[in-house]
Amino acid sequence: MPTVAIVGRPNVGKSTLFNRLVGKKLALVDDRPGVTRDRREGDVTFGGLQFRVIDTAGLEEADAATLTGRMRMQTEAAILAADVVLFVIDARAGVLPADQPFAELVRRAGCPVILIANKAEGGAGLAGAYEAFTLGLGDPIPFSAEHGEGLGELHEALKGALPQRDEDEDEEDDADAPGGRSLKVAIVGRPNAGKSTLINRMLGEDRLLVGPEAGITRDSISLDWEWRGRRIKLHDTAGMRRRARIDDKLEKLAVSDGLRAVRFAEVVVVLLDATIPFEKQDLTIVDLVESEGRALVIGLNKWDLVADQPGLLKQLREDCTRLLPQVRGVAVVPLSGLAGDGVDKLMQAVVQASEVWDRRISTSRINDWLNEATSRNPPPAVSGRRIKIRYATQVKSRPPHFALFGNQLNALPKSYTRYLVNGLREAFDLPGTPIRLSLRTSQ
Ligand code: GDP
Repeated sequence: MPTVAIVGRPNVGKSTLFNRLVGKKLALVDDRPGVTRDRREGDVTFGGLQFRVIDTAGLEEADAATLTGRMRMQTEAAILAADVVLFVIDARAGVLPADQPFAELVRRAGCPVILIANKAEGGAGLAGAYEAFTLGLGDPIPFSAEHGEGLGELHEALKGALPQRDEDEDEEDDADAPGGRSLKVAIVGRPNAGKSTLINRMLGEDRLLVGPEAGITRDSISLDWEWRGRRIKLHDTAGMRRRARIDDKLEKLAVSDGLRAVRFAEVVVVLLDATIPFEKQDLTIVDLVESEGRALVIGLNKWDLVADQPGLLKQLREDCTRLLPQVRGVAVVPLSGLAGDGVDKLMQAVVQASEVWDRRISTSRINDWLNEATSRNPPPAVSGRRIKIRYATQVKSRPPHFALFGNQLNALPKSYTRYLVNGLREAFDLPGTPIRLSLRTSQ
């Protein structure tokens, strides 16, 4: 779901706008795990648009001495998380110096910004709304969060600014359906790793008959499946393979198809042939999963052909730790698509990987961890000045994405950011998922 951040200095009416958008669900928003008082989030359905909204207003109650810095960091974090920013000013007050630092952050947002001149009910504050043009953030929308004026215009603006959903997703977000929202899974791997066999095993022969030809004519299609009452959308890798057969540019095709499958999926199963594991192509596909930010599970297929099973498993797990540090702790599941063994274990790992990938951790827990991690192993000094990390928060999930705020963070050595990523992974139990880290120097 796309994310919209409400940004602006204290008292411009951000909370009122948030409440107006979120409506009745308001009481629930603070209950979301991982959402602390300094960052409220809510899900919004607004005239056919669906998005998550983040409000930074909770901070206004914070201790005045630390308010500006914290609010600025929280605003930056919200902007990092956002697909669209709603920048709010008070039309009656006009543009004040206090708006400027926020306008500055918003200008650098790199995503669409909608300028809202709030408190303009009944035509009040028009002068202020005009003044808002000087911010250089486009045409302001005269608005009243309190009275619900300007909602039509806001809707239009959001419709234009929010990322387009593909048709496939409409059904996806139907979380109320039995079994919940579908989990999108792709099985990728070298030709002959056993992808088709595994997919056939999962779906049962009958299901595959439903639309086997579709994979030939369409770019990417999915197959609906249910595992233990959970709805799963499997990328039709079998269709991929049929296309591969009629095309001799096999290598090239495998790469572009792999990319498509990875982009389709929330969880990617990289299927290895256990009798010839880990070739360069497998590492390339893991890198792709990492760079696209998907959850990962490694399947060791054809396990029935392996003589020394415990020995090989131990060795392959070690290989994974060594070869795939970017997804440390990834689940490695032996299976036989042909015999059907291990398929259930594989799916358990898939569901678990998606939960890790989706995890939200509260800001207070992250900062407790940060204090501990930085006092145990302080960041190094750069040209005599100590690098100070002051604050951290999770800005997104799917995959987990954290932001660090402090001084001179761009000078942090790679080894130290690695230390922090590994620390986050351990402290918050995030095995096998890519982890994103944004560094923000806040002075
Ligand atoms: P794909 O190219 O990845 O889709 O691979 P296929 O599913 O077509 O399988 C390639 C070959 O490996 C076929 O001959 C399969 O019968 C065989 N195969 C697939 N899975 C297994 C398995 O778990 N055990 C064994 N012994 N053979 C398998």
